[in-house]
Amino acid sequence: MPSLLEVNDVSVAFGGHRALDGVALSAERGQITGLIGPNGAGKSTLFDVICGLRKPLTGHVNMDGKDVTRSGPAQRARMGLARTFQRLELFGRLTVRDNLLVAAELGPERRRAGTFVDGIVDRLGLADVADECSDNLTTGMGRLVEVGRAMAAKPSLLLLDEPAAGQDPEETERFAVLLRGLADDGTAVLLVEHDMELVMNVCDQVFVLDLGKIISSGPPAVIRRDELVLAAYLGEQA
Ligand code: ADP
Ligand code: MG
Repeated sequence: MPSLLEVNDVSVAFGGHRALDGVALSAERGQITGLIGPNGAGKSTLFDVICGLRKPLTGHVNMDGKDVTRSGPAQRARMGLARTFQRLELFGRLTVRDNLLVAAELGPERRRAGTFVDGIVDRLGLADVADECSDNLTTGMGRLVEVGRAMAAKPSLLLLDEPAAGQDPEETERFAVLLRGLADDGTAVLLVEHDMELVMNVCDQVFVLDLGKIISSGPPAVIRRDELVLAAYLGEQA
């Protein structure tokens, strides 16, 4: 069976600047795949390419064995892709529950959207704030709501762009359990995150991007000791 997500030889240029240069990466069902690297490495740009918001100059994106390079974001969403954004993008004047309902009502669980959303709200520990406007939440909670909205679409491929930014340590710990649960349900999770403890704890595989190129990939234990990665990124973290 092919990987749920396969990215091959993807390049993107902004003017003369190569933001991505021949990037290859894959993500498997039931696994959490980490994507790490310094600011400006190209992580968010790669997410844009994977979800169809930006057409690459070269290369291909395959989902579930199908070439989706020319498909738009809506078509990829229908195929089971959901993402969150580095900058929080919630419907600020809707309640937490309604933010999730908007997504659920367009997804495969639309016939039982209410019950489905209640399950996610419980799973995220958001029951106490379910009727609050999302504008009133802390950043950490807002991030959880955004993850919840992505979950409400019941994705097979979930892209998370710095979901733990702004979470306190306790929230991050609960978040790690949630991510493992999603993977155990069979979801392929692709995680961009600067919290190295979280990445090293939850990921099955990690890809390291630097200046638009993948400089290393492998299980966390290997990445932690990779000299190139230490020089490019992890050194700066420590
Ligand atoms: P990361 O998410 O890893 O921090 P980005 O994908 O946001 O990196 O950015 C990669 C590079 O591309 C950076 O040099 C950034 O300045 C540049 N870049 C990103 N988006 C644009 C854009 N819309 N126009 C021009 N340059 C961009
Ligand atoms: Mg980014």
